[in-house]
Amino acid sequence: MRNEHLSAAAPAPVDFIRGIIADDMGAGKHHGRVGTRFPPEPNGYLHIGHAKSICLNFGVAEENGGTCNLRFDDTNPAKEDVEYVTAIKDDVRWLGFSWSAELYASDYFERLYQFAVQLIGKGLAYVDSLNADEIRAHRGTPTEPGRNSPYRDRPVAENLDLFARMRGGEFPDGAHVLRAKIDMASPNFNMRDPTLYRIRHAAHHRTGDAWCIYPMYDFAHPLSDALERITHSLCTLEFEDHRPLYDWLVNNLVEDDKPQQIEFARLNLNYTVMSKRKLLQLVQQGLVSGWDDPRMPTITGLRRRGYTPESIRDFCSRIGVAKKENVIDYAQLEHSIREDLNRRASRVMAVLRPLKVVLTNYPEGQVEEVDVINNPEDPSAGTRRVPFSRELLIERDDFLENPPKKFFRLSQGREVRLRCAYFITCTEVIKDHCGEIVELRCVYDPATRGGDAPDGRRVKATLHWVSAAHAIPAEVRLYDRLFSVEDPDGVASGKTFLDNLNPSSLEILAGAKLEPGLASATPGLRVQFERLGYFCVDPDSRPGALVFNRTVSLRDTWARISEKASRSA
Ligand code: ATP
Ligand code: MG
Repeated sequence: MRNEHLSAAAPAPVDFIRGIIADDMGAGKHHGRVGTRFPPEPNGYLHIGHAKSICLNFGVAEENGGTCNLRFDDTNPAKEDVEYVTAIKDDVRWLGFSWSAELYASDYFERLYQFAVQLIGKGLAYVDSLNADEIRAHRGTPTEPGRNSPYRDRPVAENLDLFARMRGGEFPDGAHVLRAKIDMASPNFNMRDPTLYRIRHAAHHRTGDAWCIYPMYDFAHPLSDALERITHSLCTLEFEDHRPLYDWLVNNLVEDDKPQQIEFARLNLNYTVMSKRKLLQLVQQGLVSGWDDPRMPTITGLRRRGYTPESIRDFCSRIGVAKKENVIDYAQLEHSIREDLNRRASRVMAVLRPLKVVLTNYPEGQVEEVDVINNPEDPSAGTRRVPFSRELLIERDDFLENPPKKFFRLSQGREVRLRCAYFITCTEVIKDHCGEIVELRCVYDPATRGGDAPDGRRVKATLHWVSAAHAIPAEVRLYDRLFSVEDPDGVASGKTFLDNLNPSSLEILAGAKLEPGLASATPGLRVQFERLGYFCVDPDSRPGALVFNRTVSLRDTWARISEKASRSA
């Protein structure tokens, strides 16, 4: 297969973050050290957006001889689960990265508590006893400053006492919160005395019942960074407005080697959703088979679909890292896997929707082995032997009874080539009583063995085939995009992203037939079914009952569809 967009492997691009880090190293900032972290919240599986962050964090650490921690940001007891922790570790490893340390924000609960006590001691935090509604009412609006809470000027000793009793479990959820004392008139809402701790009588998946107060993300994150001596805390743009609070906490609590937060644009991909909440909804409502459904944008889904770690890393390197939000075309992800599989996948013949062909002039009972070229683009890949006989199977849509002008494949009276075998000509079409074509009678030309005519005559099509008696059965799952529109979240009122699901995102073909060499295929094997696309063996396969997933078609059919649509418009 030749791909027009094929370009040389992209070198590691120098983006603005790598630029900042190089400058910092040059200036001896952070003692010339680079320490990053990837901080997933274990409340779902990783998706392709996380891959961007993983490649960036692990990438810059690796390039600069630094460290990158895997830190589970597990400060919210409600939605987190060890199942996700295990899955996240598997996915990061599979992508090809190893962390310097596996850490948990929950391991810092005691030290975070001490940081909070320190802030109270400095008069920079107070226990507020307003309820959530009252706090909201005091917060103000974008045009109006907020109002101070009546509890804002509690004496330090009273704050320390109340905070200790909050920890001790004396109060119900919501009775008090700990807030930073910053500026209720700040134009930045995050600086209007943000909440640092809340009471939550809930068991945590790691700390159990040890705590009934939990730190807010905005408090835990910068201080966890500081405790791990992170130098560059890379996060997505939605945290830009939180940076003043990040710096305020670090400046008030950290002596030296202060971490710095740098924001970059998150990955947005069309034809899919990436919020973990929405992905969880798809799983819980049974709209997909699980987090690893091959249509999911999750790392585990892409892996099952047949994506390689190399293709995902290549994709992340191509899209780059910038500060400006944009939407990446799904076709770019497909381009990366196509290019990788074009290099690594061996070619085989598989007939997805078989139509029987009988060669009336081929001796009955005879079987010969023909040498089939493994990779027409790479002669060094050699050949393999494939059995050929009187009864063959070809792709049903390679035959048309009444072919339109530009249809060059098989039709009655026409000659075509069977890949690396013989020329055949269709002489007769056999139908059942419903008028459905059940068999083609053809003659073959024995002089064309190997697929070339000694008299130099040409044919316009080459078809793939299998020998009916030798072929092995398989189920083939044809996957397509999970959503049928570019922006599944862009919905009219009363609708949700679920209304944009693509009803034909999965087609199961139960009667496919493969060349016999595939009999020993095991899950994970990736091949190209000639003329059809790249496929991989699914873990659902059992001995004698192989299941293949279509990873990607050979060409971008969606581009052609949209081209056609725009032409007709
Ligand atoms: P979601 O919105 O899907 O729940 P999240 O940001 O809450 O995602 P986290 O587990 O907190 O998920 O993310 C871990 C890290 O991955 C964070 O640093 C976050 O910024 C980054 N990340 C998440 N989504 C993307 C994305 N689409 N592109 C780049 N980085 C991302
Ligand atoms: Mg998050």
